[in-house]
Amino acid sequence: MGGTVATTDASPVDRRSLEDALRASENRFRAAFVDAGIGMALVDRDDLIIEANPALAEMLGHTVPELIRRHIHELMDVEERPRRVYRELVRGERDRVRLEKRLRHRQGHAVWTNITVSLIRDSSGEPLYTLAMVEDVSEARRLGDRLHYQAMHDPLTQLPNRSLFFERLAGAFAEADQRIGLCYLDLDGFQAVNDTLGHHVGDELLVAVARRLEQRFAARGHLVARMGGDEFAVLVPRSAGSEELTALAAEVVEILGAPYDLSGQRVAATASVGVVERPVPGTTPTELVKDADSTLCWAKTDGRSRWALYDPERIAHQMTRQVLATTMRPALERGEFLLEYQPLVDLGDGTLRGVEALVRWRHPDFGRLAPDRFIQIAEETGAIVPLGRWVLETACVQARSWLDRFPDAQLFVSVNLAARQFWDSDMVADVAEILGSTRLPARLLQLELTESAVMGPAGRPVEALHALAAMGVRIAIDDFGTGYSNLAYLSRLPVHVLKLAGSFLEGFREPRPHAGPRPDPSTTVGAGTSPGAHVNGSAPRGAADEKIVAALVGLSHVLGLTVTAEGVESAAQAERLRATGCDTAQGWHFGRAVSAEEIDRMLRA
Ligand code: C2E
Ligand code: CA
Ligand code: CA
Repeated sequence: MGGTVATTDASPVDRRSLEDALRASENRFRAAFVDAGIGMALVDRDDLIIEANPALAEMLGHTVPELIRRHIHELMDVEERPRRVYRELVRGERDRVRLEKRLRHRQGHAVWTNITVSLIRDSSGEPLYTLAMVEDVSEARRLGDRLHYQAMHDPLTQLPNRSLFFERLAGAFAEADQRIGLCYLDLDGFQAVNDTLGHHVGDELLVAVARRLEQRFAARGHLVARMGGDEFAVLVPRSAGSEELTALAAEVVEILGAPYDLSGQRVAATASVGVVERPVPGTTPTELVKDADSTLCWAKTDGRSRWALYDPERIAHQMTRQVLATTMRPALERGEFLLEYQPLVDLGDGTLRGVEALVRWRHPDFGRLAPDRFIQIAEETGAIVPLGRWVLETACVQARSWLDRFPDAQLFVSVNLAARQFWDSDMVADVAEILGSTRLPARLLQLELTESAVMGPAGRPVEALHALAAMGVRIAIDDFGTGYSNLAYLSRLPVHVLKLAGSFLEGFREPRPHAGPRPDPSTTVGAGTSPGAHVNGSAPRGAADEKIVAALVGLSHVLGLTVTAEGVESAAQAERLRATGCDTAQGWHFGRAVSAEEIDRMLRA
């Protein structure tokens, strides 16, 4: 190993002692080389090994002599042959390089190594040898592989997890001209299995589900992944079309619906599947998964143990709902709501007695929205409370203004209330305050509630009704005939008016030869209640004939209730209702819901 210690300063020292010193140094080097814990090799400029130490020999399953004069390529896997940096080193352009190389063990398996190669120059500075120090990192690498595997797989089922799913999904999206399909599924009532049979049975069920999915679909080259909890996904990276995916989804429902034998117990389970299938261009991985997840929710709401295919219209509808739900409160502050008033007419003499306040939303994007589009959402989100308060106050202000300008008319205003307003706010206090501030006499305010709003568990609404009636406010039951129609129960409540639903009065309509859905001349989006959707004169189920209505009206009068007929569309109808004894009426025949100014004009006339 002469060259390595070629320090050549020929100083006037005793030549013998210099040689001694050199020999001692070389021995030290040799000892360090031989005994080193890491592999070492000295390689000449032709890539032949000149010296190797026992650690390297052992690492590669050889003896030291077997390694001598071997070409380094023989110890490496093909794609691991020396690269540019090593060549630069050998040419003397660098002094040291660090490489990660996969060497080959004599028995054929790979040995992962980190190699540091240093250039050794001769006395004139010319490259002479390279010294390679080789560290076996296979163990660490195996650990790393294991950690990587663990990071990408679900420990319970050993299926690819969410991370690996998204990695593969990204890979599938790289193939720009393909179609892609995804079945997103979860077990119906999995929580119940956990709760009743215990978590270990729940876990066994998940494993069994994983095996069924894997056996059936992984073999076809689809990716089966556990997305978390009881959610799984089957990804079809090159789908042939939505038929392939819906067939697959049907298979999922079928194979997961067969009973399971878990720890000696027979367990029944079913799955619901959301299916999305579309061309890769124009969609993103996140969109695909989000849509599959929403579609899964439909499968659930449609009754479980079934699949549903993504439907853009349904999504759009859902999104609109979402948008409406979140923008309703700010919209109220921005003044996007308005009221229209529909005449309530005395059937005896045709005079205008009152008006029903009906809310509309002048939406900046969707145009004019009818209450059917947003009242239910408002009830779900609770926005009905501030909205309902606004309606009540606005209607009372308006009624007071009519009273001031047309005192003879004694026009009352009828305001719709939702059940939630009774539960989530103090209706009695609100009404009292608004009547106080608007100075509207209580008798000119009527509140409309549906039967279901007052029929629920007795309590708040019923108490509130008594308090409101005691103030002198009139209570009307809206849409009577569509719900429980429990007149005996209602008669025990402080109710003053029954509003017979238009659909209930279908039997009062004359046969209309060309009937069909009639065009609504108003521009309001979303049809309102449509008692007029009536075909060929045959009354729909639930409609009452004249005799029943007559009996009901008679009974109501005995109980001290007045009766209002809704949805009156023709003079003949109005006449028959009058003959039956109905007190007031409302409907297109008498007038549609119109602006307050329009009501002004009627009052002036
Ligand atoms: P509703 O209380 O039964 O109101 C009557 C609905 O029938 C109104 O629809 C009205 O325009 C419509 N209508 C009136 N006459 C006729 C007719 O002759 N033929 C037909 N086919 N329809 C007629 P609108 O304005 O779309 O209101 C729908 C529902 O929205 C109302 O039904 C009511 O339940 C609810 N609503 C409206 N405003 C409010 C409100 O301020 N608060 C609450 N909680 N609900 C409201
Ligand atoms: Ca009403
Ligand atoms: Ca009604």
